Amino acid sequence: MKKMKIIIFDVGGVLQLTDYDDIGKGGHHVLGVHEYMAKKYKKDLDSWFDSIDTPYAKSIDKKIPRIKAIKTIANNLKTTPKKLTKLFHRAYKKNFKKNRKLYSLAFKLKKQKYGVGILSDQWYLSQDILTSKKNVAGFSPVIISCNIGLRKPDLKIYKLLIRKCKCKAEEILFIDNRYWNLKPAKKLGIKTILFKGNKQLIKDLEKFGIKNKRNHKN
Ligand SMILES: [Mg+2]
Repeated sequence: MKKMKIIIFDVGGVLQLTDYDDIGKGGHHVLGVHEYMAKKYKKDLDSWFDSIDTPYAKSIDKKIPRIKAIKTIANNLKTTPKKLTKLFHRAYKKNFKKNRKLYSLAFKLKKQKYGVGILSDQWYLSQDILTSKKNVAGFSPVIISCNIGLRKPDLKIYKLLIRKCKCKAEEILFIDNRYWNLKPAKKLGIKTILFKGNKQLIKDLEKFGIKNKRNHKN
């Protein structure tokens, strides 16, 4: 087997976890955020989703500019963009927890000379929190859907990933909690792991010759 050069991490359900993650089954991990927001605006979940619907969906792959998306949703909810932004930020902060063990594993792998990167679908207001500068520091490439106008599982985003990694597809290992996001990657020759938890991931990494070493010295 070819030696892996770079390990790419998904964010939602992998580097950032929620209570809603039914890991590996593609759980709706942003549900907590939407429940929180719906409650704040005194709506049931269905009418909440109706209020954010198109601008939210179009934001994930940049089909609508940030200001327009936030303004439209704020108008629908009869609030201001500023208040809406503040609440959304709070909702993401409250509902997501950094997977610290995985972060520390990623940095250990970096010490072992593996590249570590991020490939994540976010919209403008989740990006501010979940893939903030602080949360992506040390990772390269960092590919976020709402910045580039492509989202998973569009084949093009994986082609972009390969270009940005500047290595062969077979030397890239991509970790995501949703199997449908892994499919196109596999098709292009990228190696993949379906994330179901930190322990399972460490075991699966070993299959690719990647070890979670405590004190690695070169
Ligand atoms: Mg995910």
